Amino acid sequence: MPHAPTTLVILGASGDLTRRLLLPGLGTLLSVEPERAVRVVGADRVELSDEDWSTRVGEAFAEAELDEAAAGPVVEETRYVRTDALDEGQLRALLDQVEAPLVLYFALPPSVTVQVCALLERIGVPRGTRLALEKPFGNDLDTARELNRQLLRVVPEDDIFRIDHFLGVNTILNLVGLRFANRLLQPIWSRDHIEKVEILYDETLALEGRAGYYDGAGALMDMLQSHLLQILAFFAMEAPATMDAKEVRSLKAQVLRAVHPWRHDPVASSRRARYTAGTLEGREVPDYAAEEGVDPSRGTETLAELVVQLDNARWADVPFVLRSGKALGQARKEVVVTFRPPAHVPTGLQDTDANDRLVLELKPGAVVLDLSMNAEGDPFVLEQKELQAQLGKARMLPYGEILGAILDGDPLLTIRGDEAEELWRIVEPVLEAWRDGKVELEEYAAGSDGPEGWGTVPG
Ligand code: NDP
Repeated sequence: MPHAPTTLVILGASGDLTRRLLLPGLGTLLSVEPERAVRVVGADRVELSDEDWSTRVGEAFAEAELDEAAAGPVVEETRYVRTDALDEGQLRALLDQVEAPLVLYFALPPSVTVQVCALLERIGVPRGTRLALEKPFGNDLDTARELNRQLLRVVPEDDIFRIDHFLGVNTILNLVGLRFANRLLQPIWSRDHIEKVEILYDETLALEGRAGYYDGAGALMDMLQSHLLQILAFFAMEAPATMDAKEVRSLKAQVLRAVHPWRHDPVASSRRARYTAGTLEGREVPDYAAEEGVDPSRGTETLAELVVQLDNARWADVPFVLRSGKALGQARKEVVVTFRPPAHVPTGLQDTDANDRLVLELKPGAVVLDLSMNAEGDPFVLEQKELQAQLGKARMLPYGEILGAILDGDPLLTIRGDEAEELWRIVEPVLEAWRDGKVELEEYAAGSDGPEGWGTVPG
């Protein structure tokens, strides 16, 4: 079905996000939906000709393997408007010359985004304008609330799209279908049958030149506070009656409101560590503290673990372990569900000690079920075996899925204001304990498995 043409104005068009993620994402969207009518306007403070800009757009589309027929009209029509978004006159001029309906995409440094929103409050935006914002949404609970109040003075909540690209990842969205469309899983998805849930995102990648951003954030804010809590929300929310954004986002917010550090103790429930020099996939990785652009006195962690509990009837007393680290020897990006042991195993049947597990591998996508089954030989001696199903290939890049939804005005794949505040509310006591030095900053060698004893739930 043809869509009404929408103008996508990218503020910060010359930046890293636009080049590496947004434009290629748009390219994959257009390859799946070539009939989608979108005009792209790039805006940044650097001097660029329309031709330079359209070449960049064309290159990003080529990278996304978008064919000429679909890419051509968008590349030909795209324009660049040199704009210092903090200059009221220039921002006003930009808004005056773009056609509605409008999506204003903030691919700007977060501090600039906040200032531009303040300007928009004064200038106003055309009716129906949608604002698309990148994380972080504030630096803490207070600033997140202030940003939300400010945004609401510009447009209504339904026109605010807070982006977490994990919500465009097919293997994460698979959680919804897996949980709610399988009779087998529905009745066992609770504390009655599940003993522990681990949401892990361990990377082999080290800093890779991102000190400017990462050293000010760290693993807790970069990964746990945003992406991993979004996975938790999909994992643990109640069943929606429909996939309507209002309903799904309300259920996500509801479950996030129940999340607290394990036993309400932010010190015992959290661990943090930083990598030291080591060998990773055959190459030497320097000590994090010695990486260019890092300020070692900040004590930024490159690995964070937080055990949380959900204070509700479905999940009471089930530990959810959230962990993410950089420069680890092995990449593990998965959700691991450990089931309780059976109430009784017949005497005479020799079961393994291992609990049954369901593993949702996020990269590459697969669902693995570990069950006790016959071993070779004696049929009453069991061993743990894997049933595995591979997920289909994603139809487009995560940013393609998200941009498609934004262009349609559907907020399902983005974060509502109250959700954004909850994410800060959950981690704030942990950040405070870390700032006060109540949790030691441990060390692990790059290329290792991380510090010892990770993943254990405090008593
Ligand atoms: P960059 O610094 O690479 O890009 C920001 C762009 O905005 C630059 O081109 C910058 O120009 C421009 N800019 C700064 N001030 C103004 C202004 N007053 N008017 C117009 N343009 C301006 O940042 P990123 O692209 O990395 O990040 C953008 C946002 O996306 C951030 O919120 C970040 O957290 C988020 N993000 C980024 C990811 C990534 O992988 N890069 C991943 C997920 C989220 P100049 O160079 O002249 O300063």
